[in-house]
Amino acid sequence: MSATLPRSSDVETRTLQNFVAGAWVESSASEHLDVTNPATAEVLARVPLSSAEDVQRAVDAARAAFPAWRSKSVIARSRLLYDVRQLLVDHQDELARIVTTEMGKTLPDAKAEVGRMIEMVEAACHTPTTMQGRNLENVATAIDAETVRQPVGVCAAIVPFNFPAMVPFWFLPFAVATGNTFILKPSEQVPLTQTRVFELLEERGIFPPGVINLVNGGADVVNAILDNPGIDAVSFVGSARVAKHVYSRAAANGKRVQALGGAKNHMVVMPDAVLDKTVDGIVGSAFGAAGQRCMAGSVVVTVGDVHGPLRDGLVEATKGLRVGNGLEDGVSVGPLVSCDARDRVRGWIDKGVEEGATLVVDGREPGANPDGAFVGPTILDDVTPEMEVAREEIFGPVISLMHVDTLDEAIGLVNSSRYGNGTSIFTENGAAVRKYRHDVEVGMIGVNIGVAAPVAFFPFSGWKDSFLGDTHAHGTDAIEFYTRKKTITSRYYSAGETGKFFVEQ
Ligand code: NAD
Repeated sequence: MSATLPRSSDVETRTLQNFVAGAWVESSASEHLDVTNPATAEVLARVPLSSAEDVQRAVDAARAAFPAWRSKSVIARSRLLYDVRQLLVDHQDELARIVTTEMGKTLPDAKAEVGRMIEMVEAACHTPTTMQGRNLENVATAIDAETVRQPVGVCAAIVPFNFPAMVPFWFLPFAVATGNTFILKPSEQVPLTQTRVFELLEERGIFPPGVINLVNGGADVVNAILDNPGIDAVSFVGSARVAKHVYSRAAANGKRVQALGGAKNHMVVMPDAVLDKTVDGIVGSAFGAAGQRCMAGSVVVTVGDVHGPLRDGLVEATKGLRVGNGLEDGVSVGPLVSCDARDRVRGWIDKGVEEGATLVVDGREPGANPDGAFVGPTILDDVTPEMEVAREEIFGPVISLMHVDTLDEAIGLVNSSRYGNGTSIFTENGAAVRKYRHDVEVGMIGVNIGVAAPVAFFPFSGWKDSFLGDTHAHGTDAIEFYTRKKTITSRYYSAGETGKFFVEQ
C-alpha cells in the first residue's frame, strides 16, 4: 500500500481497505464517503462503509488468533510493544502530518497527540507488572487462594474523529498486551491515520495475523460490532447520544462495555488567579484543536471581581491567534473537521446571540480559505445558565463567559450540568481547591491546568452523561477492563497436615 498523505487531484482517488487476518482486503461496501482535508476541501481518499459481513470476517480472524495469542507469554507480548513504540517514534512526524491533513489540528498539536499515543504504548509495556493477580496463603488450614487475570477474548473499539492517533491507542496496546485480540473501527471522517499505523505495523510484521484488525465504516459497522456474538468487549468514545446507544445495545447483547461520551467543561477562575497564566491556559484549552477536544474549556465561570480583567485578557489574547491551515507555521487555530461542523458551530454562535449573550469576539468569518471549514476564536459574554450555549456541547472554538459571586455558586453551576467530563479551577488558594475538587461531580480535574487530560498511567474518563460503564480508559482501569478474574482455591494432601474442612470451624 502507498503512503497516505495529501494527493494531487490528477491521481485517481485511493479507496481504503480493511485489515483482516494480517492482510489488506477490499471491503464489501456498496457505499463510500470522501475523506477531505478540512483546510482545503481537497479529497484525500474514499473510505468504504463496510458491512456486517466485513465485521464477521474480522471477528473470525480475531477469534482464530486468540488461543495462540493468549498463550504467548505476557513478557513476549509486552516486548512486541517496545517494537511498536519505536515504530511510532520513528514515524511521529509522518503520522502527525496525516492527523493535521485529515483532521485539521495544527502540526505541533498533532505531534503532541502522537506523543500521547506513544505514551499509551509505554504504559502498556508494564503489563507484566500491572496484570498480576493476588493470592493469600492459608485461607483455611493449608489451603491457598489465588486470583489470576485472563484476557476477555475479542475486543473492539469504536472511536471519534478528534484524536485519530491517540484515542484508538487508549485501547489497542492494553487490549493486546493483556492477551486479547482486537478490532478497531476508526472514525469514517479520519480513517487515514490508523490506516497508516496498521500499514507500518504490517510492514514491520510485529503482530501475528488476526491479533489486530481494522474495519472502516460508519453506523452499520458499529451496530454489527454491537450485535456480533463473537465480540466479548466494546470500548466506545464519541458523542453522548451514540455512547448511550452503544452502551445499551452492547450490554443487552451481554458484552462488557465502556462508553465515553460528550462534554461541557467549566473553567472556574477565582479572584486570586494568576491572570496572565490563567488566560494562556484557558485560550489553549478553548481554542486548541479549534475547540474539538472532549477536555476543551467551554464555559468560563468567573468568581467575584475577576470578570472584567479576565474577559479583557481573553479578548486581547485571541487577537494574537492566527486561523489557517494547521500545516503552516504560526497558525494557532486550524479548521473544524468538516464544513458541516463549521456550519453547526456558526449556528451555535447565532443561537447564543439570539439567546441574549454579548458577542465580544466573533469568529464566524475568520478570513481564512473560504473553501475550508474555518471558524475563528469566539467569545460570548453575559451567558446565563438557562441558555443552550451554556448547557450543550458546541465542540468548536467558542467560550461562553459566565459570572457568579461565590465558589459555592460556581460549584452549583458545574454540578447542574448533565455532563461531568473535565473541569479546571484557577487559583493559588489551597482551601478553595480542596473544596472544589471534593465537591464537583466531574471525573477529571485540573488545578491551574487548562487541559487536565490524565497521562497514560492514570485512568481517563468523566462522570454522568460523559461516561457509561464501570472501568475507565487506560491506566490501571485498562487492565481491569481487558481481563477477567479467575479465583483458584487449592490444597495438596501429599503436602502434609491439611485441615479437615475447607470452611474453618
Ligand atoms: P460521534 O458520536 O459522531 O462518532 C463516534 C463514533 O461513533 C464514530 O466511529 C462513528 O462512526 C460512530 N457513530 C456515529 N453515529 C453513529 C450512530 N448513529 N450509530 C452508531 N455509530 C455511530 O462522535 P464524533 O463527532 O466522531 O466525536 C466527537 C464527540 O466525541 C464529542 O461529543 C466529544 O466530546 C466526544 N469525545 C469524548 C471523549 C471522552 O473521552 N469522553 C473523547 C473524545 C471525543
